[in-house]
Amino acid sequence: MIRYHAAWLVPIADEPIHNGWLTIDHGRIVALGRRVPNDPAPGIELGDVAVMPGLVNAHTHLELSYLRDRITPSASFTGWARQIIAERRKQPQLQDPAILSAIDAAIAECLRCGTAVVGDISNTLAPFTKLVESPLAGVEFWEIIGFKIDKPDELIDHAVGELSALPATEHVRASLAPHAPYSVAPLLFRSIKKAVARMPFVPCSVHLAENVEEVELLKTGGGPWRSLMKDIGSWNHEWTAPGVGPVQYLDDMGFLDNRLLAVHGVQMSRADLARLRERGTTLVTCPRSNAHTGAGLPPVEDFYESGVRVAIGTDSLASSPDLNVFAEVATLHAIAPRVSAASLLESATIHGARALGFDADYGTIEPGKLARLVAVDVPPRTADVEEYLVSGVHPGQIRWVEP
Ligand SMILES: [Zn+2]
Repeated sequence: MIRYHAAWLVPIADEPIHNGWLTIDHGRIVALGRRVPNDPAPGIELGDVAVMPGLVNAHTHLELSYLRDRITPSASFTGWARQIIAERRKQPQLQDPAILSAIDAAIAECLRCGTAVVGDISNTLAPFTKLVESPLAGVEFWEIIGFKIDKPDELIDHAVGELSALPATEHVRASLAPHAPYSVAPLLFRSIKKAVARMPFVPCSVHLAENVEEVELLKTGGGPWRSLMKDIGSWNHEWTAPGVGPVQYLDDMGFLDNRLLAVHGVQMSRADLARLRERGTTLVTCPRSNAHTGAGLPPVEDFYESGVRVAIGTDSLASSPDLNVFAEVATLHAIAPRVSAASLLESATIHGARALGFDADYGTIEPGKLARLVAVDVPPRTADVEEYLVSGVHPGQIRWVEP
């Protein structure tokens, strides 16, 4: 058993503890508390640091890491999407060494930034093995796209077969994720829902209410998404617009539930957020990506006022400058200064862990959980450690308590 002393413990499950101690045995947390004056118990002195749970990056696309600095900021989301489609057509090979080495670098960056768990979206499953070999835990979501599709059940049966052929591991699970309402046909949403419901608990994920063009397509059947889909040969002439917003659209087909991570929500109204809360769906916000893609500023204060569970993602390096969840938190803090620092830290840890199905081991410092903890350098005599942690932490300040 090893005992550590730190200026601050930030357990998330409880108030921060000044002058804290923590014991770890065989990689698991045993106990924690506040040191009393003249406490003679020896321990490893970590100094002026805040010890907290490793963070959860609930939405990223590791396999897009090779696009870092190659996609310019866009004024409209479909403008950004056209750049991505063009780049991926240039370099589509699954085994491209540049793509694979960028995934390795991205995983290393996640670890340097204090991330313990990821929700990773992939079209190729290439990151799965790399995650299995890394210390990161998480869910690999195989993203399904298909707006014009004949036999959705066959496609999904095949996908489930592929997933079940992946090696079983404790710390990385695989699931399915429909891409978005504008790129997945209604019958395909239904097939995915059925398939995920049959799997032992795994979450599901969807990009939802991310951009105004998505809202326009669902309300009117027209607009920039229709043009883009026609240009790439993916438009489905039999599809008719439901005439409702994205959240109601998926709820009407029974897709919203407590397994789902709804990613972005830039265009969600308060009524939409209330609906997510009722269904137990977790909202994942990625504000830096939203700024880069032209999706705009998410209504972050509404997210938190609604009572919906909010998790945080960096999104991919095709729309985000780095994979640092602390930087994403600092952006949220700047957008919504009235949201408490404690709430933002819960979003960066336990809410993501719960949504991904990893809260038994991750997301808080509590006896019995894994000791995947980070020590973040804080200035001496820091008074409000939570405020400090949400104001921007860079990787140079972060190390793992038990590497
Ligand atoms: Zn995404």
